[in-house]
Amino acid sequence: MAPELGKTHADEITVVTHSKVQLIAAQEFRLPAGFEGWETDAPSDAERLTEFAGRLCYLSFGDVDLGGGHKTIKGRPGGNLAYTNNILSTKHGSVLEHAQFSVLIEGVSRSLTHELVRHRAGFAFSQLSQRYVDESNIAFVLPPEIKQDTPEYESWRLTCALSLQGYRALLSNPMHKLEAEEGTKTMKLKRARQAARSVLPNAAETKIVVTGNGRAWRHFIEMRASVHADMEIRALGVAVYRLLAAEAPHLFGGMGLAQLPDGTFVVESVYTKV
Ligand SMILES: Cc1cc2nc3c(=O)[nH]c(=O)nc-3n(C[C@H](O)[C@H](O)[C@H](O)COP(=O)(O)OP(=O)(O)OC[C@H]3O[C@@H](n4cnc5c(N)ncnc54)[C@H](O)[C@@H]3O)c2cc1C
Repeated sequence: MAPELGKTHADEITVVTHSKVQLIAAQEFRLPAGFEGWETDAPSDAERLTEFAGRLCYLSFGDVDLGGGHKTIKGRPGGNLAYTNNILSTKHGSVLEHAQFSVLIEGVSRSLTHELVRHRAGFAFSQLSQRYVDESNIAFVLPPEIKQDTPEYESWRLTCALSLQGYRALLSNPMHKLEAEEGTKTMKLKRARQAARSVLPNAAETKIVVTGNGRAWRHFIEMRASVHADMEIRALGVAVYRLLAAEAPHLFGGMGLAQLPDGTFVVESVYTKV
């Protein structure tokens, strides 16, 4: 059976070599009453919504009769692609904030998620809790720079194994069971785990659900699927780009993959800081 998330068992520890990123929710659009005559060739609801929101600003819905005295003006030619490209090139990025996308990210390190949650604008995060969840069988994410069957790998593996040993010892040592203290069993367990987790390394594997709007995801991809970013989060940025560009190709337009000499990818963008 193929190992899940690229996991391999290396003596005492489970090693993760590949992350798993899945799109678990994408934007839905409902055409409002009164706009029935409006049509678009947008490839996704996300782009239908952002085009609709943008067109509302100037009432550029073409021949649609809105009633109520307002006149609509002729829309920009070229369909949704030309419309979205104009938003991107004029940096009217707030329109892209209407469209939301949620991804489930698994098999990444706590150091990656520490960098991920620095993105404050337009994102919501829900991450596995090391206080509630027993990490006695936690996996460790191998940094892409460390190749298996090398002396560096052996040092890394031993250090992770030692920290896991320490974690398990802290949870099993009666001194740390906090039995004499007040509180429910859940509270005691939470306190024991929150103390024990302090010895787990940055490589500890984690899971996180991230919801972001189109503008926020574009910015994330621009910053992190870049040659300047850490290799692990760069791979995540590339994976997110692949998912979102497949879902909403115009909204994530003006971006493309470029391969580096080491065979890994970055995303290059025509429109920066939209
Ligand atoms: C290669 C690289 C190296 C890094 N190294 C370090 C490091 O050594 N140490 C470190 O601490 N961090 C580091 N960071 C993190 C970096 O400083 C940012 O915190 C992170 O990339 C989030 O970027 P952001 O603020 O643009 O994104 P978001 O928080 O998502 O914000 C998006 C945009 O919204 C606007 N915005 C958001 N909040 C505000 C606000 N309060 N006021 C005004 N405008 C706002 C800005 O235009 C911002 O670019 C690094 C990032 C990268 C990509």
